[in-house]
Amino acid sequence: MEVCARFLIVGASLAGLRAAEALRNSNYKGEIAIVGAETHLPYNRPPLSKQILLGSQSPEDLSFPISDDLDVTWHLGSAATGLNIADREVTLENGKVLSYDRLLIATGVTPFLPPLPNIDVPGVHSLRTIDDARQLCAEMQPDRRIAIVGAGFIGCEVAASARKRGLDVVVLDQMDRPMARVLPPSLSEVFRTAHEEEGVAFRFGVTVTALEGTDHVTGVTLNTGETIEADIVLIAIGSRPTTDWLEGSGLVLEKGVVCDQSCRALNGDNRIAAAGDIAVWPHLNYGEDRFRIEHWTNAAEQGAAAARALLNDNDAPYVPLPSFWSDQFSLKLQSIGQPSRAERIEIVAGSLEDRKLVAECWKGDQRVGVIALNMAPKLARYRIQMEQELQ
Ligand SMILES: Cc1cc2nc3c(=O)[nH]c(=O)nc-3n(C[C@H](O)[C@H](O)[C@H](O)COP(=O)(O)OP(=O)(O)OC[C@H]3O[C@@H](n4cnc5c(N)ncnc54)[C@H](O)[C@@H]3O)c2cc1C
Repeated sequence: MEVCARFLIVGASLAGLRAAEALRNSNYKGEIAIVGAETHLPYNRPPLSKQILLGSQSPEDLSFPISDDLDVTWHLGSAATGLNIADREVTLENGKVLSYDRLLIATGVTPFLPPLPNIDVPGVHSLRTIDDARQLCAEMQPDRRIAIVGAGFIGCEVAASARKRGLDVVVLDQMDRPMARVLPPSLSEVFRTAHEEEGVAFRFGVTVTALEGTDHVTGVTLNTGETIEADIVLIAIGSRPTTDWLEGSGLVLEKGVVCDQSCRALNGDNRIAAAGDIAVWPHLNYGEDRFRIEHWTNAAEQGAAAARALLNDNDAPYVPLPSFWSDQFSLKLQSIGQPSRAERIEIVAGSLEDRKLVAECWKGDQRVGVIALNMAPKLARYRIQMEQELQ
């Protein structure tokens, strides 16, 4: 394939930025252009549900450092609206058409908003961007009531931040425990108890059927017929990959942009890759299934790996050790591997009672993950071991 003169990245966030950095670190001298729907330069999202809502960091603190040597042409504030693979062109909302020799897709995910009555009434929020966080934060005054729909990581982190700020907090979920898709029941229980001790109320096994209010939200109605009064509602029930702009392009879109083992997009003419929350790919060490990881570390690592694979036209498989963290009240959770696949856990240090532990997660005789709660340093040796197992 000819030398790459223009490397185009769509998605100006973590995966996109790390991709650009990897290109320059690989001594790539051609043009790098980055398109972003938001008006902001890339920033760090995890503090949006934590430090930003608590007021301990300001939005300006979240900017990623960007070296002048990166020499990127930024196209911010205008989303990509279409991809023409035959002509190697991406069209933007503002009418511009950008050509590419290689294209990295890093458009992440968008919060899923269910089609419920009154979903767009003021006071109903979702949380993905700095602008979302600003709006939510402005409404979070002490003594107001917030109903959080979804007891996943973002819902629980916002619950902790809101409670610390003196709001009345209720978290609603159709499952029977917090963070049920990822954590084993005994660890969910630790989090539930810690939240309740701080004054967070949970309602499990319920679904929201409507939002109430006309000028501003006044509450949520449940499938039980009950209405829970609230001044603010956060919908945090998951997200969908931001693939709308790729519809009809010919790329394979199934719960994300489907890629091969080295993150090259299927049907992408060997010139297109995807990375971060949007990419679906087969992790060769984890069986036949293709999957997507919605965590910070993967976005950073995959952005760099996909950019290098595309630039150098190599087939090296991308086989990361998945990892994530979450902070809620005094609980600091860190996870490596795939604890959600575990059939049983073994606590090998600390205890559930102390809320300080290391748990190995097992499926049959295979250790599929390790979780540390308030014991991060103990995870280091597991990380090395499990990374070696992936080689
Ligand atoms: C509130 C919150 C808290 C989090 N906390 C943690 C945590 O504690 N630990 C953890 O491991 N992970 C956490 N995460 C997840 C982590 O932030 C993400 O995994 C990471 O940001 C993914 O990076 P990305 O670059 O793939 O996608 P994103 O960061 O979603 O960026 C995608 C970018 O593409 C842009 N875009 C979308 N469509 C278009 C288009 N058509 N044209 C141009 N641009 C477009 C978007 O505006 C966005 O800026 C959190 C996420 C959120 C929202």
